[in-house]
Amino acid sequence: MRPEILFPLFTSVSTLKGVGPRVAPLVEKLAGPITRDVLFTAPTGLIRRSVTTVDQAVEGQVQTFIVTIDAHFPSQRPSQPWKIRAWDGTGFLTLIWFKGHGPHLERQHPKGARRAVSGKLERADGYASELQIAHPDYIVDEARAGDIPEIETVYPATHGLPSRTFRKFALEALERAPQLPEWQDAAWREREKLPGWREALAALHAPTSEADLSPLARPRRRLAYDELLAHQLALAQRKASRRSTPGPRIPSGALSDAAEKALPFKLTGAQIRSLSEIRGDMASGERMSRLLQGDVGSGKTVVAMLAMADAADAGFQSALMAPTEILARQHFETIAAPFQALGLSVILLTGRDKSAGRSAKLLGLADGTHQVAVGTHALFQDDVVFDRLALTIIDEQHRFGVNERRRLQDKGEGVHLLAMSATPIPRTLELTVFGDLDVSRIDEKPPGRTPVATRAAPTPRVPEIVERLRGAIAGGAQAFWICPLVAESDKVDLRAAEDRAADLSRHLPGVGLVHGQMPATEKDAVMQRFVDGEVSVLVATTVVEVGVNVPNASIMVIEHADRFGLAQLHQLRGRVGRWARESSCVLLYDPPLSEVAQQRLDILRRSDDGFEIAEKDLELRGGGDPLGLKQSGFPAYRLADPVAHRDLIAVAADDARLILARDPELAAPRGQALRMLQELFDWKPASPLNEAG
Ligand code: ADP
Ligand code: MG
Repeated sequence: MRPEILFPLFTSVSTLKGVGPRVAPLVEKLAGPITRDVLFTAPTGLIRRSVTTVDQAVEGQVQTFIVTIDAHFPSQRPSQPWKIRAWDGTGFLTLIWFKGHGPHLERQHPKGARRAVSGKLERADGYASELQIAHPDYIVDEARAGDIPEIETVYPATHGLPSRTFRKFALEALERAPQLPEWQDAAWREREKLPGWREALAALHAPTSEADLSPLARPRRRLAYDELLAHQLALAQRKASRRSTPGPRIPSGALSDAAEKALPFKLTGAQIRSLSEIRGDMASGERMSRLLQGDVGSGKTVVAMLAMADAADAGFQSALMAPTEILARQHFETIAAPFQALGLSVILLTGRDKSAGRSAKLLGLADGTHQVAVGTHALFQDDVVFDRLALTIIDEQHRFGVNERRRLQDKGEGVHLLAMSATPIPRTLELTVFGDLDVSRIDEKPPGRTPVATRAAPTPRVPEIVERLRGAIAGGAQAFWICPLVAESDKVDLRAAEDRAADLSRHLPGVGLVHGQMPATEKDAVMQRFVDGEVSVLVATTVVEVGVNVPNASIMVIEHADRFGLAQLHQLRGRVGRWARESSCVLLYDPPLSEVAQQRLDILRRSDDGFEIAEKDLELRGGGDPLGLKQSGFPAYRLADPVAHRDLIAVAADDARLILARDPELAAPRGQALRMLQELFDWKPASPLNEAG
């Protein structure tokens, strides 16, 4: 239950003075539906108005003048502005109004009247001497000059809702903000010199310098930390409640040892470490919720396979789910033979399984004949029943919805979850995206991989690249040719991909095309022809399945590389760097390349480590959504900036862990204040936000 003291902040924005039926939707769009949202909308800028005289005026600045109205120049045609000439004893100033401003100006500001006028000073084109202000921000009686603020806070504005209007709402919201009990650690606050919550909000809405607008300003850091702590606390609570759910005890046994010995290679150190973390979880008697992070080609599947062998050894079933049929089939092909050699029964279940064949497979899952099921969405359908499901593994976990993952997990009691992801998330942000999961990282590649020779080339050089491709294809190589698609529905981009495919097929043999708007079966069919070597150049929008293995593909061409995130480019490139064959990646761009774009492409040329690349990309791009994180379940913070405040993320995570260790029920005074904090941000343990498992 929300404490009463917070009620004033949880009222609809239409309760704010001046927010009527016309303005309310605009405020809601800009800030959110309730007063709290207005309160949490930070100003973005500052206007300083110095009072000056015409002879001292500085062009381009917002300034205030005390003038006498000298003459009116009415517009002759609607397209012409209404002009007022004003004089301040040191020079003339022209005030200009376009459209819709007419004779009332003359009534309001008659010749001879003394006025304080303020606005951005410009010099009229063609008249070297004429200084002007178009649409002054203020024009008031000289006696009321003091009403013009010297410093004005700028809020994000939308059409129909000017910054100055929003500011009034923000100030009223601030008035409604109650004094709340302190939830931050007093000693820490003192050390960091952070103001109290109410004080910080007051400062947020009253910046007096550019420095106050910086995310590093103490009031802003305080508020950001509040938000991060509220979130980390919710994640930690969820993690704790998951941990307290019992899970089947699965000790590591002889079967997976045998499977490991039968591998044609030795596990890397990172694989061994990840596997032992997984085994620790599975043997603990608590339910596992673990994310296995690793670059494309780092060898996640083997680790998953050995975990499944442990489950089978202990008499349990496991399910491995992949987002596409082709990926599921590849996983099946990887694990079927070694498992069968160990006497285990593995099935593949996809949308293709129909009628009798499907029934037989389902029967075998229900009676425990099959120990391992590999498949797609087909695995979590209602009529799929397991005998003793104890482990689910989700490949490319972000490609599934929360409910889909849960539906599969719910097919057993306390089923262990291992989610796998190849999205390189910088360590600093990992806590935010996956704070409620335990994370294992495979940060080492199997030996013997040759780095992908990466270079950037301007688009006009495509003919040369095609020539070289022709030679490589003649030698048996295959290539990906990626065209970006801003949105899957973007017709222009789609046309560009189709045109490229048509163009390439005039010069090269065996060109195929896959894009997001094709039906899944058709997509799979083209992909399969590529895997089988019938297609030698696969033109694809970014839908190409990240995990698909095409051993023969050694060339990756990416058009408009500057439109992709670095992490995404790295993932795409990873598709050709997995095999001993020398591979190359060409990043095509339309010249000229901006400096930042140049730097970004350089990072890719120099580094082959997804985590490092992601971290650098974050630094280069700064705020916004640099890695496309929103799509991977990244929370939309209001006051925290995941880049500028990233040092606080780890602190908040530690803090949250400590708080819960000392006071799991949040019953102590600080605990109760923290509950208030959670209410304030709506980040409570039960919230489905950012649910990763
Ligand atoms: P991921 O799923 O992480 O993208 P995979 O599990 O598909 O990677 O592994 C990519 C390839 O590397 C597979 O062919 C796999 O057999 C091989 N591989 C995995 N681990 C090792 C290892 N330790 N040494 C050599 N090759 C490995
Ligand atoms: Mg994989």
